[in-house]
Amino acid sequence: MNTLPLSAEHPIAPIDIRAYALNAALAAQEPLVKRFIAFFTKTAEQEWSPENGAKVVARAWVDPIYRASLLKDGTAACAKLGYAGPQGEYIVVLENTLSTHNVIVCTLCSCTAWPVLGLPPDWYKSFEYRARVVRESRTVLREMGFEPPSEVEIRVWDTTAETRYIVLPLQPIETYGWSEKELATIVSREAMIGVAPIVIK
Ligand code: FE
Repeated sequence: MNTLPLSAEHPIAPIDIRAYALNAALAAQEPLVKRFIAFFTKTAEQEWSPENGAKVVARAWVDPIYRASLLKDGTAACAKLGYAGPQGEYIVVLENTLSTHNVIVCTLCSCTAWPVLGLPPDWYKSFEYRARVVRESRTVLREMGFEPPSEVEIRVWDTTAETRYIVLPLQPIETYGWSEKELATIVSREAMIGVAPIVIK
């Protein structure tokens, strides 16, 4: 759509002149684009990490007040620990219980909550995972080496452009009394996506 005012003072330039002007404008922005890419790469590699989510989970395990705030407003509670940013504007925390196990997928593409889960792993992006985990979740989990008890209901949550999920796993009884720091070491990205149990190292 042409939004330039048409008048004798502002005639529309020939298309080759406009193309040249557009090219020159983009070339002038190149340092900005390079800086953005450098910033994005550094942030993705050094700041967006599942270790952040692990610290959130560990805090929720040891601090009932934090846990309640996390379940009520995941975005605010994650930001309280310093984890906020792109693709983390609306984080919803899914609490596993003795009767319910949650699993995350993005059937459309590959969305994760970047600030707490990092960028998605390759298997999460695969067409097979996205297509099958909704229809045959128990089978897919078994193939990934995880078998929740048969009486446990499995709920699969499909990410949207706005909503990003993170699973709050059940804390293993054997770890009651552990420090928050120790607990964070056993929370994997896969457990926060819901495709793996918490493994005690
Ligand atoms: Fe996606």
